Amino acid sequence: MTTFIAVLYIISFALFIYGLMGLTGPRTAVRGNWIAAVGMGIAVIATLLTPGMSNWLLIALGVAIGVVVGVPSARKVKMTAMPQMVALFNGVGGGAVALIAWVEFRTTDGYAHEPAYVAIASLFAAIVGSISFWGSNIAFGKLQELISGRPITLGKLQQPVNALVLVAAVVLAVVIATGGDAELLMIGLLVAAGVLGVVVVLPIGGADMPVVISLLNALTGLSAAAMGLALDNTALIVAGMIVGASGSILTNLMAKAMNRSIPAIVAGGFGGGTAVASSGSGEVRPVRSTSASDTAIQMAYANKVVVVPGYGMAVAQAQHVVREMAKLLEAKGITVAYAIHPVAGRMPGHMNVLLAEADVPYEQLKEMDEINSEFAQTDVALVIGANDVTNPAAETDPGSPIYGMPILKVNHSRSVIVLKRSMSSGFAGIDNELFYDAKTSMLFGDAKSSVGEIVEELKAL
Ligand code: NDP
Repeated sequence: MTTFIAVLYIISFALFIYGLMGLTGPRTAVRGNWIAAVGMGIAVIATLLTPGMSNWLLIALGVAIGVVVGVPSARKVKMTAMPQMVALFNGVGGGAVALIAWVEFRTTDGYAHEPAYVAIASLFAAIVGSISFWGSNIAFGKLQELISGRPITLGKLQQPVNALVLVAAVVLAVVIATGGDAELLMIGLLVAAGVLGVVVVLPIGGADMPVVISLLNALTGLSAAAMGLALDNTALIVAGMIVGASGSILTNLMAKAMNRSIPAIVAGGFGGGTAVASSGSGEVRPVRSTSASDTAIQMAYANKVVVVPGYGMAVAQAQHVVREMAKLLEAKGITVAYAIHPVAGRMPGHMNVLLAEADVPYEQLKEMDEINSEFAQTDVALVIGANDVTNPAAETDPGSPIYGMPILKVNHSRSVIVLKRSMSSGFAGIDNELFYDAKTSMLFGDAKSSVGEIVEELKAL
């Protein structure tokens, strides 16, 4: 039986890795996800076959609750709410690891009769799992707007408090590892790590959230891998390491894309700039507004149009009508490209997924570095529901919460047309100088309706 279980685990790892390869491109992502899910199903079956497995009723109850909660929420969730969902599910993973470490503590009498590596791996898993659970819940609250997305800091006390709870968790871990077996020690450790998760994530501003979610994801993976080591469970080690490694790589890529330093984000140093929302600042500045028919005419006489999609395109679900518009422009001999910012939307790869859904040819999607040098030769940059990722303040205003984040340099184009409903700010809650630029015109309205009107005008030309 042990050999059979080992073979099942090997099959499941192979499927995880093969599935992950599928996730590297939007065309193969759905299949990749299915393959990895089958791998996970096999790993679960292998675990259930482990000799000594009992408590079937409890296991069945756990599976039933997981299915009843997980399946409908995953099916119903809107694409734009995906980051919250990822944060929540990721947190549950971290919480489960922390609870397993606690259970192990109870069943092994405080790890007293266990080898040192088991105690160390379990305590690491308990701390990191608890940080991940509480941190992810705060990230969920911020993204779901249950709590303010703005940085919530303890001011000057922030760093000392962060350090204090971290030291408390580590000291308790050392006491337990060296023989302390009172359950209060373990509870104290979980609470200290949980407080650390909360105080680290609360001060992080909206613009840095993508990096934080990805970092918490990596932490959950690492904690699961550590717990796998303690429990001698290869499935947990491999799956945890895959999540830990891919999460770490993603965190690095996202931090690079936003020009953020990970240690500084975690220390609460970023995202705390002086955010000024356009609505509410009191000052009314003139902007030039345009109509769908003028936009259509302007584009019809262009040689090159670059579509800059953002979160608003996702909210409006305008991707299909955008594709229709692009086809009409192409039929008139106009070159159309799409500028993809790595953090446009609300999750990594959000724009790629939406545009792939609308069958936009992959070659037309241009990464930020590539397209930025092309804006100078662009006649019309059509910004559809994007805001922060085009904000010049990221380059010019050191006080801005997004200062340092590379942006799509749409203001280098000959003209810019911005499609959005109002002058409201984007996720980072700050005003966008681009909207007041002499080259910019605003086409107010829901992105799907506006692009639909442009399509009708183009057809009539
Ligand atoms: P933004 O959030 O900056 O702006 C989106 C704009 O879309 C808003 O200003 C809004 O203006 C407009 N909008 C909303 N609904 C509609 C609609 N129906 N029709 C037309 N416009 C609409 O989006 P960006 O994509 O530019 O930037 C992403 C931001 O999200 C960055 O700050 C990034 O850091 C953050 N983020 C990114 C994540 C990721 O992984 N990609 C995860 C979490 C956060 P109005 O209300 O006036 O219509």
